[in-house]
Amino acid sequence: MKEEKWRILVTENESRINTLKASLRGELIQPNDEGYDAARKVYNGMIDRHPALIVRCADVADVIAAVNFGRENSLLVSIRGGGHNAGGLGVCDDGLVIDLSLIRYTHVDSVARTVRVGGGCTWGDVDHATHAFSLAVPSGIISTTGVGGLTLGGGLGHLTRKYGLAIDNLLAADIVLADGRFVTADEQHHADLFWALRGGGGNFGVVTSFLFQAHPVHTLYAGPMLWDMNQTPEVMQWYREFIKKEAPDDLNGFFAFLTVPPGPPFPEHLHNKKMCGVVWCYTGPMELAEETFKPIRGFLTPALDFVGPIPQPALQSMFDALYPPGLQWYWKADFVNELSDEAIQLHIKHGSRVPTMHSTMHLYPVNGAAHRVGKHDTAWSYRDATWAEVIVGVDPDSANRDRIVDWARNYWEELHPYSAGGAYVNFLMEEGEERVKASYRDNYERLAAIKRMYDPTNFFRVNQNISPMP
Ligand SMILES: Cc1cc2nc3c(=O)[nH]c(=O)nc-3n(C[C@H](O)[C@H](O)[C@H](O)COP(=O)(O)OP(=O)(O)OC[C@H]3O[C@@H](n4cnc5c(N)ncnc54)[C@H](O)[C@@H]3O)c2cc1C
Repeated sequence: MKEEKWRILVTENESRINTLKASLRGELIQPNDEGYDAARKVYNGMIDRHPALIVRCADVADVIAAVNFGRENSLLVSIRGGGHNAGGLGVCDDGLVIDLSLIRYTHVDSVARTVRVGGGCTWGDVDHATHAFSLAVPSGIISTTGVGGLTLGGGLGHLTRKYGLAIDNLLAADIVLADGRFVTADEQHHADLFWALRGGGGNFGVVTSFLFQAHPVHTLYAGPMLWDMNQTPEVMQWYREFIKKEAPDDLNGFFAFLTVPPGPPFPEHLHNKKMCGVVWCYTGPMELAEETFKPIRGFLTPALDFVGPIPQPALQSMFDALYPPGLQWYWKADFVNELSDEAIQLHIKHGSRVPTMHSTMHLYPVNGAAHRVGKHDTAWSYRDATWAEVIVGVDPDSANRDRIVDWARNYWEELHPYSAGGAYVNFLMEEGEERVKASYRDNYERLAAIKRMYDPTNFFRVNQNISPMP
């Protein structure tokens, strides 16, 4: 926020800001405070927003105070969970950020196999808590991602084919609404809101705690397998058939184009090589793991095979070090039903040109358990898709911004005609209303009606926005 603009805001609202500050157990951070620059940073280094106020909430009472303050002072408000969002939707310019990063507790009920999770937790917090009880909740593929944003948008990851999306395992959510009320949404209470929260993003309020069903998962048989780029046609054609028709639900595998990092544990002869691969995750009985992988290893010997027994939190954090906060990220995405031979040729054209070491393309399976939930059962519409495709140009150096953006855009533009139409909202940057509507399809109208009930003024609008306007 510009210094002068902020001074006017503070001068005009000084006593109200002081009252807010005095009412908090957490922190109020303003542009002249020492921690301001660190507090406004998010995971994507391309995002550079300057909020007027950041309320780092310590508890639900702080969230209620922040929501009421934002509404009474007509401020633009954003909700920050883990701060991972591609478009930087956890922060806003000139407004109020409700930062949940201090609300970071977990409580496992090992008998009911549930876990209660504070609204500001990362998935690493959850994995750490549940692993001690040999349990896990389906999430994504990186442990530093926020539970809040990932869950409310859907949640696709290593356990999708076995246990469904993160939202398919959500039992209840505590939420502070736009009018400052606090409610619990589940199948019995505010069932319409509960339906909308499962895919509708941060549109309906600030979720202060999530209750998840956990599953018996401890040691997986998992990891990456890589093949030479020139073997991509065979690998992709085989992978397409395998994931659609043959793979048991115990086996998840997302396809990737990547550049092998130049360091251990990768063998030197593969350093900096562009390759294709699949990151596998097998959750079945360990004694059947080798047998399950026989057809995979048998169809074409991989150049690198790092698949073996691994604790669940280790798989979840395998890529954390490769992707520290602060890199430049540019995202493009689509849902995909079929991978035609023609589409595979285009994938090879662009995938073999990944512009930087961190850039990649992933195809995440949406089938298995995720297909067994109806497309109207939650707000997450694309239950009939086979994959969620994401193309991400990534690099530490902002001087390479155009390179990564151009690659991702060109790749996406050529593949988009082969897609199912919409995209997974958590893989979108800020791409506008039509794209959001395409992602919810015929669930959009119901989402808009629920938005009118719970947030008629569109107070929560720094998100993949569902407009309350008819
Ligand atoms: C490296 C990386 C890997 C990823 N991998 C996966 C993956 O494997 N699977 C997958 O599904 N997604 C993945 N994502 C995408 C991820 O789901 C989204 O970026 C998501 O928005 C991140 O949530 P967050 O809480 O960290 O983000 P934030 O930037 O904090 O918030 C994102 C949005 O969610 C809302 N929000 C967050 N918390 C709350 C809350 N408690 N209450 C209400 N609204 C809230 C915010 O208002 C904002 O609109 C990945 C992202 C990155 C950067």
